[in-house]
Amino acid sequence: MAIADLFDTGSHVTEHEQLEDFLENASVGIHLVNKEGIILYANKAELDMLGYRKEEYFGKNIREFYEQQDEIESILSSLLSSEKLDNHQTRLRCKDGSFKDVLLSSNAYFREGTFIHSRCFTRDITQLKKSEKLLKFLNEASVQLSTMHDTSEALDEITKLIVPSFADWFVINELRSDGFAYLLKMGHANPEKAKWAQEYRTTHPIDINDPKEGSVGWAMRTRQALLVRDITPEIIQNGAKDKEQRELLERLTISSVMIIPMLIKGVVTGVISFMSCNPKNKFDDEDFSFAKDFTNRIALTLENARLYEEVKKDIEERIEADKKKDEFISIASHELKTPVTSLKAYTQILQTIFENEHNEKASGMLAKMDKQVNKLTRLIVDLLDVTKINKGEMVFDVQEFNFNDLVTETAEEMQRTTQNHTLILKLEPCEKIKGDRNRIGQVITNFISNAIKYSPEAKEIIIASGCNNHKVKLCVQDFGIGIAGHEHSQVFNRFFRTSAKSHHTFPGMGLGLYISSEIIKRHGGDIYFESTEGKGSVFCFEITSIDAVND
Ligand code: ADP
Repeated sequence: MAIADLFDTGSHVTEHEQLEDFLENASVGIHLVNKEGIILYANKAELDMLGYRKEEYFGKNIREFYEQQDEIESILSSLLSSEKLDNHQTRLRCKDGSFKDVLLSSNAYFREGTFIHSRCFTRDITQLKKSEKLLKFLNEASVQLSTMHDTSEALDEITKLIVPSFADWFVINELRSDGFAYLLKMGHANPEKAKWAQEYRTTHPIDINDPKEGSVGWAMRTRQALLVRDITPEIIQNGAKDKEQRELLERLTISSVMIIPMLIKGVVTGVISFMSCNPKNKFDDEDFSFAKDFTNRIALTLENARLYEEVKKDIEERIEADKKKDEFISIASHELKTPVTSLKAYTQILQTIFENEHNEKASGMLAKMDKQVNKLTRLIVDLLDVTKINKGEMVFDVQEFNFNDLVTETAEEMQRTTQNHTLILKLEPCEKIKGDRNRIGQVITNFISNAIKYSPEAKEIIIASGCNNHKVKLCVQDFGIGIAGHEHSQVFNRFFRTSAKSHHTFPGMGLGLYISSEIIKRHGGDIYFESTEGKGSVFCFEITSIDAVND
């Protein structure tokens, strides 16, 4: 069936008129041009799309409407040589000076070999292009913002992304925990104009209770977003709070605005205002939904930056507190060392005097005093060791020694400190090793004294050594109170003492294992343990015989 058969031939209207009606009311833009490019006809859809009246379009050369004017020459020459134009993407100028992104599909009509006209279908893809562009922009911005940690750096980056490509004027107002709103960032395509706005804000703070719809205070309070496509002089007249604000708004020539609250977990953290100051660029629904998405991302970025800064500040404060603690330990241990050394010397002299005088009571008391002075000395030595570790000044005196002899000696010494426990030695034959005998002895002492201290109800402590391939291993096992699993990772930390209530009665500073781990690490060895609360612990170290471990 021919197309003409579809027309209502019975009526008084001609087929020609009906065809014209059909073209005129098509939803896609259609135009016909002659071989010179003169527009012979354009339908309503095309005129509406570009905003022209018939007389402003008909009879004009189509090249005037192309953004790239010379493009039309190649299009016409293709059409003249019977080629088809399929979905050719270009930009056409609208009456208001803006451009529409369009897809052109065209071919030529020849009669008896003569080019009569080209017929062109024009599809408006401006909105599609804009969506694509905004989506791309949003994705790129999200990637960029996800790496931001510093608030002011993030704010600068956000402003650069928005102004001027999306909005001419961009303002972030933050709602702080004190209940007041503060200007956090302002960006303007024309920095001179931003200055006025900034000055205004300093003298006119945001009123959270502002009842005017669309005001920053209103958006903060109601958590509603608002798009005002067209800012008319009346809106400015009615919206301005005072004469000064009205004049400022007039000077800033705002043509369209979007006000969007920033929400984190449903709580308002601020409001972002996007403004266009160009009457040709009015925000539409597409922009509005983009701005809402972007505002969410900005809110998250700012929240992340805030949390990051909080953690950073916390860490810095802790580092500073640690530094002060280290300084205190260093001073206190040095100051305590000299008087305690004299105290020890006088105790021993007095003890000898009383022994010579056969005053057993006094000499017995002095022996007890000497023990306490030794304990005090041990604490001070630990503090001094921590200072040395902090300053990297722990020096090792490397020598060759018999490892099992050291273990036996230390165990015998420690056995004298306890009547409740039996220290059981299970030693494998070992070759001599190289290392700092005193420091390694200090670690063994720490393991055994902890085993004694933290197993008051137990009877036995097992001290086992193993040796192979120039490696020695020592483990001290007790059957005491043990350490809860959730604290295992902290056991070798400085000042670690378990939080278990059962440990509160045990004296100590939480330095022994920290120093031991430093000593073993500096010998290139490993220190580790296994422990079950209520069952007991095994603390072990392994070291390779080494030649020199000094710095
Ligand atoms: P402290 O002087 O407090 O004993 P350490 O650094 O030697 O210092 O030990 C740190 C903490 O580890 C102790 O306070 C204790 O809570 C826990 N601990 C160490 N050894 C044992 C052990 N054998 N049994 C149970 N808990 C232990």
